[in-house]
Amino acid sequence: MLNTYSPSGQEKEIADFLTEEMDRIGFSVSRDEVGNVIGEAGVGPPSVMLCGHMDTVPGFIPVRIDAGKIHGRGAVDAKSSLATMIAASKEMIKRRWRGRLLLAAVVDEEGTGTGIRNIIKKGISPDYAIFGEPSGVGSITIAYKGNLRLKITCETRTGHAASPWLFENAIERAFEVWKAIRSIHFAEEDVQSPFYSTTSCLTAIEGGNGFGKIPSKCSFRADVRIPPQITAEEFLARARDCIEQFRAQNPKTGVTIELEGKEEPFETDKSSALVRSFIWAIRKVTSRPAVLIRKTGTGDINAFAAAVKRPMIAYGPGDSRLDHSPDEYVSVHEYLEAIRVFEDALNRVAELDARRIPPHQSIPK
Ligand SMILES: [Zn+2]
Repeated sequence: MLNTYSPSGQEKEIADFLTEEMDRIGFSVSRDEVGNVIGEAGVGPPSVMLCGHMDTVPGFIPVRIDAGKIHGRGAVDAKSSLATMIAASKEMIKRRWRGRLLLAAVVDEEGTGTGIRNIIKKGISPDYAIFGEPSGVGSITIAYKGNLRLKITCETRTGHAASPWLFENAIERAFEVWKAIRSIHFAEEDVQSPFYSTTSCLTAIEGGNGFGKIPSKCSFRADVRIPPQITAEEFLARARDCIEQFRAQNPKTGVTIELEGKEEPFETDKSSALVRSFIWAIRKVTSRPAVLIRKTGTGDINAFAAAVKRPMIAYGPGDSRLDHSPDEYVSVHEYLEAIRVFEDALNRVAELDARRIPPHQSIPK
């Protein structure tokens, strides 16, 4: 998988390889409109979706195994996770696991999420979902922050730079708007916590045209990260209010706000059968207690969790600090342990799920 270079948009070759491989281990495999590879095996309940992305960021890294480590682009983000899920599925199918497995190898996670959006569009709605992303063998990712990508533009009438008191300066106005956006916070936030607080980052700015003229246009982009106590939609509403207020106070400045992307935050229920099964399996395989982690970035899971209200986590071998780095590697030992965690956790999920009392049989209080 690592030798098959597959930056976003160029997943066909690895998709062909995985189609063949998944067919060989007993999945019934299909390819959807956007190029996702979908394997199905067994009958539920429970139904479990294992979802991993086939694409990587650009930049091939020669593949080698050295001192117990596998190096290559995607070794961490996230081909090891996808390979782990396929290897574990092979065992589950062989041992006739009591449940329905759905393995989705998706395209374009590092791009615009075309792959996961098509999975959502199909109405795939499993009882549990696991996204293959590096958490480290001993940790489970139970939350991701949300994200808003905003473009804000200020426009003013231009004039000679020698008489700035006569005109509004679009760059200066834009900076005032940015300061207002940056100061948006909510009472629900925990400002001391990098995860449970909102952060706004100025990521691009353009405007002005050299000396002599008052800038008449300035645009900037703000990348906002949203904790699960609030929604991206709520932040957006506050940002729009902020722009309205600015307009009222600065009638000579035109201000527009454009939404260039939005992901809702995600946090799963820690007491679900899924999380408990992974906690149990990690302790069994590694002899250490599992660590629950929350990530400040986003992933395919954000979009899926917004559409499908079921227990879900992200899990996979590797240190996510090496994501997108010039030397991605994963430890062979950790990779093999993660396969066992998947197998044990899936068995446990099926057991716990069978014990669950169906709603219609629950005893009235
Ligand atoms: Zn990834």
